[in-house]
Amino acid sequence: MRLILLGAPGAGKGTQAEIISKRLHIPTISTGNILREAIKNGTETGLRAKSFMDKGMLVPDDVIIGIVRERLAEPDCADGYILDGMPRTIPQAEALLEQGIEIDRVVSIEIADEVIEARMTGRRVCGTCGASYHIVANPPKTEGICNACGSELVIRKDDTPETVRHRLEVYHAETEALKGFYAKLGKLRLVEGNQPIEDATRDIMAALGGSE
Ligand code: ADP
Ligand code: AMP
Repeated sequence: MRLILLGAPGAGKGTQAEIISKRLHIPTISTGNILREAIKNGTETGLRAKSFMDKGMLVPDDVIIGIVRERLAEPDCADGYILDGMPRTIPQAEALLEQGIEIDRVVSIEIADEVIEARMTGRRVCGTCGASYHIVANPPKTEGICNACGSELVIRKDDTPETVRHRLEVYHAETEALKGFYAKLGKLRLVEGNQPIEDATRDIMAALGGSE
């Protein structure tokens, strides 16, 4: 299964990717996590990406396309993967096609802008493995500590209400059009994001099993 998860920031892509990745035994490629790791390690890519990310802007397509091309060539991607947060622009989607990267299914997690802000202010992420939690809807077993790796949870710098609002504008301006792009290719399925996490997982799994 080669799956793309689309959706606004805060729709639940990372949360669902983590669950589905375990169920299907395929890796998640989260461009956001890869970029945050690059920033933490002070790499050239990280330095280039940081100013865009802090402002809630998209990182240039060439940076993203290079990162994903390299990552998908790793052996663990041979039997499938989940792309979380990529593509975010039409040129990124076109680059996947041009590189012969076949996608089986694109699931868009649908959620109204009004719900997003409450989600983002309660989001806590693992500074080491990138796992995503919510202080009310999906709290970790021990407050402030990642269930998966035991590291400290942090608030993302771009989860302030002002930056979240800008990221939503960017989503509507640049990313939402991908739904039409993949609908034309017969790959798109829509799933309701404003429901309990396990219900959204059930609907995504159903969308993966459905026929064209
Ligand atoms: P994305 O990767 O799409 O930006 P996340 O998966 O990080 O979104 O989810 C954003 C926030 O919303 C996190 O705090 C997460 O725990 C919470 N969340 C995810 N799915 C749900 C849901 N179905 N109901 C309530 N909160 C959710
Ligand atoms: P995310 O973790 O998916 O919410 O991404 C966080 C930030 O990383 C975004 O607001 C962008 O600045 C950047 N980013 C992640 N993925 C992409 C992408 N595919 N294209 C451009 N920018 C991206």
